[in-house]
Amino acid sequence: MECIFCSIVKKEAPSEIVFEDEDIIAFLDINPINYGHLLVLTKEHFDNFLTVPTELLQKLISRVQFLAGIVKRSTSADGFNTMTNNGTAAGQRIFHFHFHIIPRFENDFKLNLISKNYNDQEMKQIADRMKEFIEKYKGQLNG
Ligand code: 5GP
Ligand code: ZN
Repeated sequence: MECIFCSIVKKEAPSEIVFEDEDIIAFLDINPINYGHLLVLTKEHFDNFLTVPTELLQKLISRVQFLAGIVKRSTSADGFNTMTNNGTAAGQRIFHFHFHIIPRFENDFKLNLISKNYNDQEMKQIADRMKEFIEKYKGQLNG
């Protein structure tokens, strides 16, 4: 089945596009968390955050920064969330990578996230493991 966001990019599916350039497109989320909830994505299809080429990701993020300012001003929001969901476990439903920009208003709602605690040993263990992986993969760092 065709990717719905690719269909929107090709203008084969309807959407309320508010910005586009050669590589990037932004349109309103059809089921907004708050009115003005914007989705920003590369026109080319990549599944998730890890598979977008770094240079294109930098361009995408610069557009997200610009558009977050536009969302905030145009909705008179008090703040905003930018977020990306990666993988079904993280709530990703459309596998064409996108940023969400969600305008936020004082006391609109609370994200019901429950924090955990580390003991010192657990924290150090996880940090050490990450550092091992960084050593192993740092050849992939660019930019
Ligand atoms: P995800 O959960 O993958 O991060 O987010 C997908 C988002 O795309 C959801 O917030 C959903 O409301 C939005 N969405 C799904 N289908 C369509 C569509 O056909 N048009 C638009 N404009 N938004 C869509
Ligand atoms: Zn796609």
